[in-house]
Amino acid sequence: MSGLYIHIPFCKRICAYCDFFKSADLRSMPAAIEAMHREMDEENRFIGDRRLQSIYFGGGTPSLLHPDELQRFIDQAAEIFDTSQLREITVEVNPDDIDEKYVSALRNTSINRISMGIQSFDDRALRLMNRRHTGAQADRALRLMRDAGFGNITADLIFGIDGFGDERIESDIDRLLGIGIQHLSAYHLTIEPGTRFGRMAARGEFRAIDEEQSEHEFRLVHRMMTEAGFEHYEVSNYAREGYRSLHNSSYWTGAEYLGIGPGAHSYNGTVRRWCEQKVDQYATARSYTEEHLDDIDRYNEFVMTSLRRIEGIDLDTLSERFGPERAERFTAQAKGLEGYGVVVENGRVRIPPERMLVSDAVIEELFETK
Ligand code: SF4
Repeated sequence: MSGLYIHIPFCKRICAYCDFFKSADLRSMPAAIEAMHREMDEENRFIGDRRLQSIYFGGGTPSLLHPDELQRFIDQAAEIFDTSQLREITVEVNPDDIDEKYVSALRNTSINRISMGIQSFDDRALRLMNRRHTGAQADRALRLMRDAGFGNITADLIFGIDGFGDERIESDIDRLLGIGIQHLSAYHLTIEPGTRFGRMAARGEFRAIDEEQSEHEFRLVHRMMTEAGFEHYEVSNYAREGYRSLHNSSYWTGAEYLGIGPGAHSYNGTVRRWCEQKVDQYATARSYTEEHLDDIDRYNEFVMTSLRRIEGIDLDTLSERFGPERAERFTAQAKGLEGYGVVVENGRVRIPPERMLVSDAVIEELFETK
C-alpha cells in the first residue's frame, strides 16, 4: 500500500522556527497548482504500488486553497491509482483560514482527517513564533471542525521554547483535551540556521533550552497525554486507540510514497527523490535530485524509524528483510545498550516511549557504517 503527499508550498507569513520548503509569494500559486496537476499525471509511475492507502495535503499552508481545489487533486488521484482501499485523507489547516463557510465546504470533500497547526494557545508564544493566529482563533477553529462532524482531528504543538515552561504546556494540553482531539503531534523546538530564531540565536537574543529541561518537558507531555488515554506510539506522536496516522506510519514502515509539488519527497523502495526548484520556477521547469539507497542505508533507516516507534524492531522481520546474521549481530549490539534504556525481550528490541527523546544517539550506535 502506498501514500500520496501533496505539498502546497505557500504561506502568508513565515514562522520564526520554520525551515520547510515554502514561499510567501502567493502570486505564483495558481501556476504552481496547475503544474502540480501536470506533475501527478506525468510522474505517478515513479511508484510501483498502485494501491493508495492515504493522501496527505501538507505545506506550506494547504488551507490557502479552497476545498474544491483540494478535492480536484483527490479526484485526479482516483483516476490514476487504485483507491479502493484509500482510508485516510488529511489536510493541514491554519486556524485563521478557518470559518463556518470553509468548514462546510470541507465537509463536502472526501477529506476525513484534519491536522491543525496550533503550536500553542498562548498569544505571547504565538507572537514570538510569528504565527498568524491567536489562541482564541485556534480554539474556535478546532471547535468549528469538531462541531461540523470531523471526528479525526490532530493538532501540532511545540514545546521546548525558552521562557515558556510547564505552565504553558499544561494549559495548552488541557485545552486541547477539553476541546477533544484524537491525535497530537508534539515537537520539540529546533533552532535552524536560516530561520528567524536562528538569526536571533546568532545575535544572542534567543537560545535553546538545556538538555535536562528538554527531557523534562518531553516527559511532561508524555505523562499528560498517556494519563488522558492516548498511546505514545512514536517519538512525537500520540493517538487515541484506532487513530494513529496511517500516512506517517507508512513513512516509518518503508512503504512507497509519491510526493507532488516543489520540495516534496517521493520514495519507491530504492530511490528517494525530490524536486527542489524554487516555487516560482517550478511551473516552467522540473528536475529531480535523486538519492539511491543501498542495503546499508535501508538497514539504518529501518533501525532508526522502527526504534522511534513504540513497537520497536521485530527481530523476525529484521531477519527476513536483512538476513539472520545481521539480526543476530543486531540483537547482541542491542543487549550491550540495555544500560541506556534499550529493551530486548520477547523477540523485539524497543525503547520505552518516555526515553525516546534521548534515543537518537543510542540508535546511532546500532547503525552499520560503510
Ligand atoms: S505555516 Fe507552516 S510551513 Fe508556513 S512558515 Fe509556518 S510552519 Fe512553515
